[in-house]
Amino acid sequence: MYRTTQTTGANARAQRILVVDDDRALRACASATLRAAGMEVCECGSGEEALAMLEHECVDAVLLDIRMPGMDGFETCRRIRELRRGEFLPVIVTTGLDDMEAVQAAYHAGATDFVVKPINWTILRHRLRYTVNARTMADELVASKDQRRGLLTTIPDAVLNLDTEGYMTEVRLPTSGWAVSEDIFAVGVRFTEVLPRQSARIAQEAIERIRQGADQTSFEFAISLEQGERCFEVYLAPGADGSVVALVRDFTERRDAQETVRRLENFDRVTGFPNGDMLHELVNDMVTAGSVSYSAVAVMRLELSGLDYARSLLGNRRADELVRMCAKRLQQAMGSQAGTQSSPDCLIGRIRDAGFLIVCDDLADESALQQFAERILACVTGSYIVGDYEISVAARLGIALAAAGQIADAGDLFDRAELAMGEGGSAPVFWSSKIRDRWRDRAQLTKELQSAVNNGDLHLEYQPKVDSATRELLGVEALARWQHPTRGAVSPGVFIPLAEENGLVLAVGEFVLEQACRQIQVWREAGRRVVPVAVNFSGHQFSKQGLLDSLKKVLASYAIERGGIEIELTETVAVHSCAGIEKVLQDMHEIGIPTAIDDFGTGHSSLDNLRKFRFQTLKIDRSFTADLQTSAGSRSLIRGIIGMGHALGMVVVAEGVEHEEQLDFLREQRCDLIQGFLTGRPMRPEAIEPQLQYCGAA
Ligand code: C2E
Ligand code: CA
Ligand code: CA
Repeated sequence: MYRTTQTTGANARAQRILVVDDDRALRACASATLRAAGMEVCECGSGEEALAMLEHECVDAVLLDIRMPGMDGFETCRRIRELRRGEFLPVIVTTGLDDMEAVQAAYHAGATDFVVKPINWTILRHRLRYTVNARTMADELVASKDQRRGLLTTIPDAVLNLDTEGYMTEVRLPTSGWAVSEDIFAVGVRFTEVLPRQSARIAQEAIERIRQGADQTSFEFAISLEQGERCFEVYLAPGADGSVVALVRDFTERRDAQETVRRLENFDRVTGFPNGDMLHELVNDMVTAGSVSYSAVAVMRLELSGLDYARSLLGNRRADELVRMCAKRLQQAMGSQAGTQSSPDCLIGRIRDAGFLIVCDDLADESALQQFAERILACVTGSYIVGDYEISVAARLGIALAAAGQIADAGDLFDRAELAMGEGGSAPVFWSSKIRDRWRDRAQLTKELQSAVNNGDLHLEYQPKVDSATRELLGVEALARWQHPTRGAVSPGVFIPLAEENGLVLAVGEFVLEQACRQIQVWREAGRRVVPVAVNFSGHQFSKQGLLDSLKKVLASYAIERGGIEIELTETVAVHSCAGIEKVLQDMHEIGIPTAIDDFGTGHSSLDNLRKFRFQTLKIDRSFTADLQTSAGSRSLIRGIIGMGHALGMVVVAEGVEHEEQLDFLREQRCDLIQGFLTGRPMRPEAIEPQLQYCGAA
């Protein structure tokens, strides 16, 4: 700790110097020489101690060593400047002769002056005296009456002098920006009477503290005026003859600005609902112990679908309008719930683009929640008229429910609702441990897929596409396969969507393309006539930057001819990534990669899109083929699709052909190609090879 040494015979005006140095000998020397010069000296051995000491004690200057263990002199100096009494305190740093860089840094840290070690004490005494005197003079100047008056007119505070009874004896209002009428803070009025009752009590206590010797205290209050509420902060300090000086500052604008920032940070701009972070905080307050206790909290996670499409179709401004319309319907669903028997108190928040969170407290009855959730779904789904368009919006909803004290963090409840939603179709789904297990399994599978991709454990099978009349092999489709060491064959219907969710699909796509090209090379080298190989592309691959260049590179490195590789894109992907896709398709065509629209008939694309996109091939989804024998509707749809495909100059392929009758019908309808188990299942490349005509070794 620090130690204070008094000088002998020091008078009341002796200068008081704090010596901060870890070198005890130097401190002793400083004490002795400065005391001998009539100064008062206190000393300590570290920056931390110096700061603690300056909190309580007044000194006129500090002699501060720069190099100290722990907090060094620079940091100490900086911190001194932050102290209430430290802003203008003279700080003289001591440094070694070979440490002149430190001087520069010390000035940066706010030092007033420096002396070099070993210290010439005579010079130091003079310097100290000079610095302290200069400071004192400056202080006196600032304190002088004229100066004070000048200062008072520039500060944005009202300055009040309160007599011992708390009446205002002097009132100086700011010259500008003061919204309060002059007769509120006026001479002769008791200060506390201006304030609301609660604030008056706080003010009275603060005034008392000053009377009892505190040198400063502050508090805030608000008063209602005609033009609205104004907020003030008050600083009190002792005045002359037992009076108290009050500086009153109006900080309403600052508060409003802070409030705006808070709103921008915590509320969604489009709907005005709290955002996810804000809701998280609110719900945390509800679920954690110590706050108002709720018997149960339910979180519903709602996700709209159709919004991406709306954005690409309508643009962002209109799509935001659609979101606002959905939000309004959501509120209406809430409104119709309020007042019913279960009548939950609900909070709605918006997360990401198409997501909402609805939090209900004290509603633990699952069937009431179920009904409520069904009403929400019924309210928000359906069609919306935005501008000239009619947009149809679907939604999924997951519910997670927790009794009070069951959950440590609101985030867990949100995650559960999200998982439950992931399972949902058109009906609400409650979270259960089964769902959790399924998602854990998915997470595990994702991890394993990642390593399968890294280790090259995927492979391709090829399914023939044959001429509907002659059954001649005219192409193959490459299909990704994953033979899992313990789970066995995992269907691409499972692992491709999984890969799409986490971006792994790009790596899968690269592997498939490269592998297909390599296979073409192998067949070619074996002297086979190679047919076009179609690979499936996901939406992610299509929207990847530099797609064309990387395609060109791969094709060139395996010397693939024009048309040797075809790309299939599902109708849904084509429709939903319509911005810019026409150009990509066009460019692909130009570099010799034909494209096919896959699973046609399932993605609700308009005829207009189909015309614009200019695919070379159209693949009729296998659901139509499957229904062909039983449904006259499917037959006429197929007829229509084939006619339309041909009219637009496309080659038409029917997928999922399993029976001769299906093939007969399709041939009659002049469907060009057939792909299905009837004419060939997906198979290993060795099994396809004999079907490729031999034309002599390369
Ligand atoms: P798809 O592109 O429509 O591929 C045709 C699917 O139909 C294949 O299923 C194929 O095995 C199956 N199929 C073929 N003929 C018949 C039939 O006569 N009857 C029936 N019931 N099914 C038949 P698979 O191999 O399970 O692939 C499923 C989907 O996974 C593919 O549908 C495709 O969308 C996706 N996929 C497969 N490989 C890849 C790939 O490398 N990349 C991407 N992005 N997706 C892929
Ligand atoms: Ca396909
Ligand atoms: Ca397909």
